[in-house]
Amino acid sequence: MTTAIYPGSFDPITNGHLDIIRRASSLFDELIIGVYDRSEKQLLFNTEERVEMVQRAVAHLSNVRVQSYSGLTVEFAKKASAQVMVRGLRMSSDFEREFEMAMMNKKLAPGLELVCFMASLQYQFLASSLLKEVAKLEGCLDNMVPEHVVTALRDKFARELCRE
Ligand code: ADP
Repeated sequence: MTTAIYPGSFDPITNGHLDIIRRASSLFDELIIGVYDRSEKQLLFNTEERVEMVQRAVAHLSNVRVQSYSGLTVEFAKKASAQVMVRGLRMSSDFEREFEMAMMNKKLAPGLELVCFMASLQYQFLASSLLKEVAKLEGCLDNMVPEHVVTALRDKFARELCRE
């Protein structure tokens, strides 16, 4: 049995992430999505909100589960008894950072294999950071995120505007 983890911030989950999740879940027996529990200062959604949005988005995939984690990703993989770590690669923007992290992770956990999925063409330029900007400026998010994430983004920015 092969267990894979797919770690990330998922702030929020996008259709690009979901494409990777769908493809990875058809390849591995079990896929555990690790939502990185880090300082909320740099993030729009807190950990609980991010986990909940991912859970709703993957509810139809029976071999996928969602967990938050803090600390080293390789330790999360070890605790989950995962043999594989999944990441997604978009053209140009991700390679160098992923390569650097992969080399460090290999030193820390030589037995953990990294499997990178090339982002699908339609999601190459989809990034959580950019879509938060679009959401903030009330742009259209069609085909970028699941419906419940559109609602969550709208709610979040509406609340922010109310406070201003
Ligand atoms: P992190 O903070 O770890 O980069 P992200 O949530 O931004 O967390 O991304 C998690 C993983 O998903 C990373 O491997 C990233 O390259 C990948 N990813 C992000 N957006 C896309 C996309 N549109 N298509 C494919 N993979 C993506």
